[in-house]
Amino acid sequence: MAVNEASCVFCRILKGEIPSQKIYEDESSIVVRDVNPQAPFHLLVIPREHVPDIAGALRREKGEERVGKLFNTSVRIATEQGFGSSGFRLVVNSGTDGGQTVGHLHLHLMGGRQMTWPPG
Ligand code: AMP
Ligand code: ZN
Repeated sequence: MAVNEASCVFCRILKGEIPSQKIYEDESSIVVRDVNPQAPFHLLVIPREHVPDIAGALRREKGEERVGKLFNTSVRIATEQGFGSSGFRLVVNSGTDGGQTVGHLHLHLMGGRQMTWPPG
C-alpha cells in the first residue's frame, strides 16, 4: 500500500490538484465527500500528513492523540450533520484484506441508511 505523496490521490486533493467537495478543514485534517458514496451521507476524514495506514499513524509521535483527534472530528461532524441520534458508521480499512484502496489514512463516516453486519 506504499505510495509516494506526489501520486497519492488524497495528497493531491490536499494540494488542490484534484477537485473535491470539502465540507470541513482544520490544521490537522480535511473532510470531503466520497466520490463513490456507499450511503446517502458518506464523508472521508483525511489527515493532512501522508501516513499510509492506521498502524503507521499510531506509531508516530503523539500518534494516539492525533488519531484520537480524527475520531473526535468525525463524531463532531456526524453530530453536527444530524446523525447523533439516528446513528452512523465510522470505518477504517487497513491493508489488502481490510479493503483499503488508497494508501493514505482516512476514516469513512457514513449515515443516512440502516447499515448491515457483517460488512462485505
Ligand atoms: P478505502 O477503500 O478505504 O481506501 O477508501 C478509499 C475511498 O476513497 C473510496 O471510498 C473511494 O470512493 C474514495 N475516493 C477515491 N478517490 C477519491 C476522490 N478523488 N475524491 C473523493 N473520494 C475518493
Ligand atoms: Zn497522501
